[in-house]
Amino acid sequence: MKDSSMRLVKEDGTRIDGRRLDELRPLSIEIGVLEKSDGSAYVQLGRTKVFAAVFGPKEVHPKHLALPDRAILNCRYHMTSFSVDERKPLGMTRREIELSKVIREALESVVFLEEFPRTSIDVFIEIIEADGGTRTAGLTAASLALAEAGIPMVDLVAAVAVGKIEGQIALDLSDLEDKYGEADMPIAMAPRLNSIVLLQLNGRLTREEFKKALELGKKGIMEIYQKQRDALRRKYSEEALMEV
Ligand code: ADP
Repeated sequence: MKDSSMRLVKEDGTRIDGRRLDELRPLSIEIGVLEKSDGSAYVQLGRTKVFAAVFGPKEVHPKHLALPDRAILNCRYHMTSFSVDERKPLGMTRREIELSKVIREALESVVFLEEFPRTSIDVFIEIIEADGGTRTAGLTAASLALAEAGIPMVDLVAAVAVGKIEGQIALDLSDLEDKYGEADMPIAMAPRLNSIVLLQLNGRLTREEFKKALELGKKGIMEIYQKQRDALRRKYSEEALMEV
């Protein structure tokens, strides 16, 4: 909780957690963290902790649901009941169903689904701890899990939320900033293509603020993309060393 005297942006321009307005929270990424999936990743952004697991491509059951010309991408975004302060109800809430859909649509725009007709690819995103930016951290993790599963994609998806707090545009909102700020705008991109695959806006921004938020979001996304690529490089150079 924030008490009424607490400022989201202090006089020196820093935020409650000490970050500058254009700064990401500490980010760590690991690939290949779950034994039983075909691909997996763990992303921690500040206190937001997310696992993604991918299964497939595999046969569709029942068979009549299979598509003759492409794979079906199934996606489930789920928050554990202990991921938030007040326990979230068990099962899928309306919010989780909606987020599963927008995340699926973002991933569909980078995966070459037509290479795997009559199959399905299942993506599971589990939010272990939520402190703002879970859909974006989930997408960042999911695209890495897809890459580890060997699913061909035009590019990874890297994502972050930007927003407006006490009149200022800020990168990577925490839960507190999201709740007490004026706007929250999650953005996901296929960075190499400079293509936006998800953009939502909760709140109001002027045209100028929107432009600034988009620029700041792109800067954050490029930093995340670099870390995704470093994590992939680390994973595959370690494997190559083990094979020698
Ligand atoms: P995102 O996590 O993508 O930013 P929202 O803007 O909907 O999505 O949520 C912002 C934050 O609000 C979440 O990261 C989480 O910290 C918190 N939150 C979301 N759902 C719940 C819930 N059911 N109970 C408590 N806190 C929640």
